[in-house]
Amino acid sequence: MGLDDKLTLFITGPTFVRDEVKKAALLPDFGHRDIENEIRFKPIFENLKTLWEAGENHGVVIIPGSGSNAMETSIRSLVGENETVLNVSTGAFGDLYHEMALANLKPGMKAVQLKFDPGKAIDLNKLEDALKQHKPNVVTLTHNETSTGVVNPIAEACKVVHKCGLEYNVIPLVLVDGVSIFGGARTPIEKIGVAMYSTSTQKGLALPAGFGLAVYSKEALEKAKRVTQRGYTTDLAAHANSAKKYQTLTTPNCALVNQLMVQLDYIINKEGINARFKRHEDMRNLTHTFVEEDLPGFEIFPEKHYASPTVTCIKVPTYFTQETLNAVKEELRGHGYLMDPGYEKMNAALAKQVPPHPMTMRIGHMGDITLAMLTTYLDVLKDTLMKHVK
Ligand SMILES: *Cc1c(COP(=O)(O)O)cnc(C)c1O
Repeated sequence: MGLDDKLTLFITGPTFVRDEVKKAALLPDFGHRDIENEIRFKPIFENLKTLWEAGENHGVVIIPGSGSNAMETSIRSLVGENETVLNVSTGAFGDLYHEMALANLKPGMKAVQLKFDPGKAIDLNKLEDALKQHKPNVVTLTHNETSTGVVNPIAEACKVVHKCGLEYNVIPLVLVDGVSIFGGARTPIEKIGVAMYSTSTQKGLALPAGFGLAVYSKEALEKAKRVTQRGYTTDLAAHANSAKKYQTLTTPNCALVNQLMVQLDYIINKEGINARFKRHEDMRNLTHTFVEEDLPGFEIFPEKHYASPTVTCIKVPTYFTQETLNAVKEELRGHGYLMDPGYEKMNAALAKQVPPHPMTMRIGHMGDITLAMLTTYLDVLKDTLMKHVK
C-alpha cells in the first residue's frame, strides 16, 4: 500500500470526493480580504441558506476548522453563566456535545446529560421528563448519530422543548449537531425552530475537511452578544460580523473555498436538492435490502424507522469480533476500498455487556457516492464477509 494506491472511501467521513471537486482546488488563489473573496463566498453563503431552507431571520457563519469548531462555538457563545445546558445523547457524538459543554463551563453553568442506549433514537417522553426536571436554558441534539446510524426526530424534539419551555417560562435554545446528515436530507431549520445548526464539509457535502458551517437564528445572535467569555475563535457574534462581509473571522483554506463554491453550485443547480435527497434514500433502501436479503445473520442495528439515509450501522453475527471486522477491512483495502469496521469505542462497550452484544460495522453512503458505486461496493463487501461466515 502506498500513496499511489487509490482507495474509495465508504467510511462515515471524510468521504469520496469527485474529480470535478478535486480540480476546483486548482482554481486561482485569492486574498481573503480582497474583492475576489466575495465573488466566491457570496454564492456560498446564499447556497448554504437555500440548503438550510433559512430566510431573513437566519444567518450563516463559516468557521475555519471542522464541524467540532462550529459545535464548540455554539456551546461557548450560547450558554451563559448560571445557565443549564441539557445534552441529549444517542451515542458517541451526542456525548461529544456534552464533553464540549463540560470543557467550556462558566461560573454557575451546569451541563447535564440525557442518554439513550446505542441504536435507540430520542424518546420524546423521557426528553419531556428531563426538561421538566432540569429546566434548561439550552438543549443540544444530534440530528444523525454517526456511531449508531440513527437519525433522530429533531423536529418533534424541538416541539417538545418549546412546549415544555412555555410551561416553565424559559424557552430553551436548541443547538443541533447535523455534521453527518447536512446535504443528504432536508434540514428545514426555520420551520423546526433551531437556534444554531452546525455541520462540516467532509461528510454530506463530499468535500475535504476544513470548515465548520453553521446557521443561527437572530434570537441566538442577540443572546450571544450578552453571553460572557465567548472566547475568540468560538465567538458567534464575531463570526457573524465577518459573515456580514461574506468573510471568515480567521484565514480560510482558499483551495477549499474554491471547492465549496463549485460543489454547492453542483448540488443546487446541477444535481438538484430533491434528487440528491432521493438518492440518499435510495442508497439507504439498497443497503437495507442488501443486509436483509444477501447477508444471513446480519441485521440493521437501529430501529428501521430511525435508520439514517447517510450511514447504515449493521449488527454482525455473534462470533464476529472486532478483530474479524478489522481483518475484513484490510481485505477490502486490497480491493481498493476503505471499509468501516464499526465505531470501536461503542463496539468495546457492547462487548462488555452481559451477555455480550454483537459487534457493529458501518457503511457510509453519504455525499456524492452513487447507487452504481454502492452496488459494486456491496458486492465486494458481501464476498469478503461471507468468507468469515460460519
Ligand atoms: C464527524 C462528526 C462530528 C465531528 O465533526 P468534525 O468535522 O470531525 O469536527 C460531530 N458530530 C457528528 C455527528 C459527526 O459525524
